[in-house]
Amino acid sequence: MTDASADRLKVVFIGGCSRSGSTLLGRLLDQLPGWQHVGELHQLWKRSVHRNSACECGKPFRDCGLWQQVMHEAFGGIEAVDVQAMRDLRRRAHRAALAGRDNAPAVSEYAAILARILRRVAACTPARTIVDSSKSAAHGAVLLAAGGLDVRVVHLLRDPRGVANSLGRQRTMSGQAIPMERLGAIGAARHWRRENRRTASLAPAAIRLQYETLAADPGGTLRWLLEQLDSPPQTLGFIDGSTAKLAGGHSLCGNPMRHRSGPMEICNDDAWRKQMPLWRQRLVRWLTRGPARSYGYQ
Ligand SMILES: [Zn+2]
Repeated sequence: MTDASADRLKVVFIGGCSRSGSTLLGRLLDQLPGWQHVGELHQLWKRSVHRNSACECGKPFRDCGLWQQVMHEAFGGIEAVDVQAMRDLRRRAHRAALAGRDNAPAVSEYAAILARILRRVAACTPARTIVDSSKSAAHGAVLLAAGGLDVRVVHLLRDPRGVANSLGRQRTMSGQAIPMERLGAIGAARHWRRENRRTASLAPAAIRLQYETLAADPGGTLRWLLEQLDSPPQTLGFIDGSTAKLAGGHSLCGNPMRHRSGPMEICNDDAWRKQMPLWRQRLVRWLTRGPARSYGYQ
């Protein structure tokens, strides 16, 4: 695929709060023919290029064949990338995008770089639709500013108590001794409100999807989602009831479940009901009550 024919490359951006099941959704979409899940692309410079974190395939980023090829075609090689300059540009672009200055030079410049990377992913794979599960609304805003991309926003939501319970647990990124973010109840509630508010303001036509709906009926939800995305219906042979047979892919960063492949039982992770003290559940529910209700969480 050439850059010219890749005009209007379809990109599905999964936005929302962290720990909302975006890795699961991204991996399910990755199983569809012609779809490629790149994971959390907004982490590319820091975690993948700089820290050499593991790709979903298990190899360190710099040893992954797909990403080597993508980076070679986009930049002339991983070593040719000025990581610090990219991180600076990303920071300026994100700041401008969050302030609503979508036409700022940093946004245009960074959007062009993201579009170049995504087109190279499409060129190096059979993909016609790319899934980016970055969630960061700033990253989503930059993507939306990129020319030649048909960006659809899926706003993935999860019960704030589930998010708060997950954010309160210590977790280590697989393959790396880097503890993932850990927040208390108030911090988690604030994070949930802020990230969902930012995602909701990204695109009026964003498709809202609850993690709980996806976990309860992965096949039915994917069929519904494809329809919402104006994508042709697909045979979901990899899903049988609540079991999904997941093949490995090449996503960057995300939940450690991305490194497991084979048949996987999908069920709603509602461990928060037992693990969280009642006072904490109530506190989170109270702190998020307005937006939670508007998103369908009673
Ligand atoms: Zn890989």
